[in-house]
Amino acid sequence: MPIVVTSILAAFESIGNVSNLSNLGIKSITYYLSTTFIAVILGLILVTLIEPGISKPSKFMQQKINSLQESNLQKLVLDITEIVESETSQSLNSGKIQDLQKTLTKIAQGNNSADDLKQKALKLIGSLELRSKLSNDSKPTDKSNLSIKDFLLLQIEKTLINPFEALASKNVLAIIIFTMLFGGALTTIGPSKEKIFEINRAINLSVMKIIHMIMYFCPLGVFGLIAEVTSSLGIEVFSRLGLYILCVLLGLAIHLFIILPFIVYTTSKVSPKQFFTAIKPSLMVAFSTSSSSATLPINLQCVEENLKVDKRISKFVLPLGSTINMDGTALYEAVAAVFIAQLFGVSLDFQSQIIVALTAALASMGAAGIPAAGTVTMSMVLAAVGLPIEGIGIILAVDRPLDMCRTAVNVASDATGCVVIDSIEKSKSLFS
Ligand code: ASP
Repeated sequence: MPIVVTSILAAFESIGNVSNLSNLGIKSITYYLSTTFIAVILGLILVTLIEPGISKPSKFMQQKINSLQESNLQKLVLDITEIVESETSQSLNSGKIQDLQKTLTKIAQGNNSADDLKQKALKLIGSLELRSKLSNDSKPTDKSNLSIKDFLLLQIEKTLINPFEALASKNVLAIIIFTMLFGGALTTIGPSKEKIFEINRAINLSVMKIIHMIMYFCPLGVFGLIAEVTSSLGIEVFSRLGLYILCVLLGLAIHLFIILPFIVYTTSKVSPKQFFTAIKPSLMVAFSTSSSSATLPINLQCVEENLKVDKRISKFVLPLGSTINMDGTALYEAVAAVFIAQLFGVSLDFQSQIIVALTAALASMGAAGIPAAGTVTMSMVLAAVGLPIEGIGIILAVDRPLDMCRTAVNVASDATGCVVIDSIEKSKSLFS
């Protein structure tokens, strides 16, 4: 929680006074948000299509699973029959009824179910429907019945009534909303905000220090986690991790070699070859240091000298970008969160995927431009959808090479933003 709050406040510190954000500021932030969301959606599509965390059993194994499933399904239907018969309408609340109905529908439509089992399931669905009508507890706050709008409104309500309760109960979304409101307000209060931002930076650094101290034990923790996962999934966990790496790299490559050059070309007519030749030194430094902040000076030089971006623009757009614009990190966080969900057998519904997209974008904006910062802020994405934080330990084993690649994408996107805004400003001055 301290990392989430202080990182978001740090992002507001770099944005400056939100009430008189300059035209340039609004344009930069709009560009940054747009490409970050493109990256997140790309990541989500890839991880859903490739399903790196889901085991696909061999034919022989599938047959075994089918026969096992058949007897398990029989038992499940028996259990549900028992529950339906023994529980009163009051004790079967709407959530429970919905859960049972979902399971039964799967059985009734499943390929692995025998016909008599399907009949039984359909009958049970009917009697549960009746129960559901009788039960009078289908409250509007039932989370599974809420639309996304109602769900977000509920979070805002919770936040505004008691942010401390949200903090204590680790309600990440509510905390993010409150911190954004607070951060935005803070930027408008005049010089005294500097003190708060200074304290915020100190807290952020101290908490980071604590995390680094804990990180000394990390190899031991990673060893334990991988051993545990390997013992349940077998050696297959390595092929899962391999697919996960492939998924992240594919997403990063599409973003770097197709989406960004396309944006550059359509807005400023700079060809992909010109663009990559110009920013090659920054890409190399980003790749070898895994740090957007360390790459900032060379990136400034590349866009100013090789791409002829106006210095007044680059001096504003790039430093802001190196702290809040991290397309590669956002893509990686979205893929990693869904991968961990798949690995732990948690299915994420549409609402949860939207929360993953939003928090991954925010977590990337809050991540500092230093190595492995994205991995730390990822805890925010996992916590927001109730996934186990230990999942980070599993992906940590392969994090460094991915960090090198995502940092290169982060830096390329900053340079793209610079070129885009420069050409918009230049065309504006031509017409005025
Ligand atoms: N290393 C990345 C950067 O500096 C941040 C991260 O994703 O860890 O841009």
